Amino acid sequence: MPDCNSNCSACGEDCPSRTAPQSFIKEHHPDAIVRRVYGVVSGKGGVGKSMVTSQLAVLLRRRGYAVGIMDADVTGPSIPQAFGIHERAVGTENALLPCVSAGGVQIMSINVLLENENDPVIWRGPVIGGVVQQFWTDVIWDVDFLLVDMPPGTGDVSLNVFQQIPLDGIIVVTSPQDLVGMVVEKAVRMAERMEVPIVGVVENMSYAVCPDCGKKLFLFGEGKSKEAAKRHDLPLLAQMPIDPELTKLVDGGKIEDMKCDALESVANVLASR
Ligand code: ADP
Repeated sequence: MPDCNSNCSACGEDCPSRTAPQSFIKEHHPDAIVRRVYGVVSGKGGVGKSMVTSQLAVLLRRRGYAVGIMDADVTGPSIPQAFGIHERAVGTENALLPCVSAGGVQIMSINVLLENENDPVIWRGPVIGGVVQQFWTDVIWDVDFLLVDMPPGTGDVSLNVFQQIPLDGIIVVTSPQDLVGMVVEKAVRMAERMEVPIVGVVENMSYAVCPDCGKKLFLFGEGKSKEAAKRHDLPLLAQMPIDPELTKLVDGGKIEDMKCDALESVANVLASR
């Protein structure tokens, strides 16, 4: 090979003298600055992966970091809505610029590229994989933290993202209604195979707070996520309540006004790594 430095594991070329598995990791755009990349994963849709991603972005931004969200949940993109972004992304000849929220969070999502944000995305896995890859290779990010709202589950599309984007770690989101043990187990196996560290587990919709007496009501049972995390030597980083105020903020595009501090401990961990 021309310019061969014999470092096969970091090379994407498929050549006969290969001695280590091929790396599918792509380079980000040459003009982009991305210091750390964290993926947020879940076992299935609807457990609050986008909610956790959005809140972490808000908390890190409030600490003064430059933060971006890559909405890789292409068939259920909800990040632009949460941040009140309804405009289209602007492109140059060879790059895309992320949209920027009122609070300064950089965002790229299929919804800011579609002609009509309400159009359904009915593409198959490989096309979706290509789009997510472009969110990495073609977008001029300028961030300390890039949070990737991963496609739900541990199937094809997530695997693609794991293979193409050099993640510094992943956060596993569970909910107590889930088969938590299995979700964590699958995420752990996938992360091990891809050699990406798991930062920890965040349990969403853990409890509701009684508006009259303030008591925490663990509607779906208590302790499942903690147990599952412990089994794999992972920290349970936070438990987030079901909070109707949060749903309202997301629906109104005002997540940046949130008062919820349930994920401060997770922001601490990310900021200290
Ligand atoms: P996912 O990304 O896992 O598909 P979302 O983050 O989009 O899930 O959450 C699904 C729905 O539940 C959204 O309408 C969201 O606003 C709401 N939601 C998620 N977490 C909470 C919470 N802790 N309290 C109230 N509503 C929530």
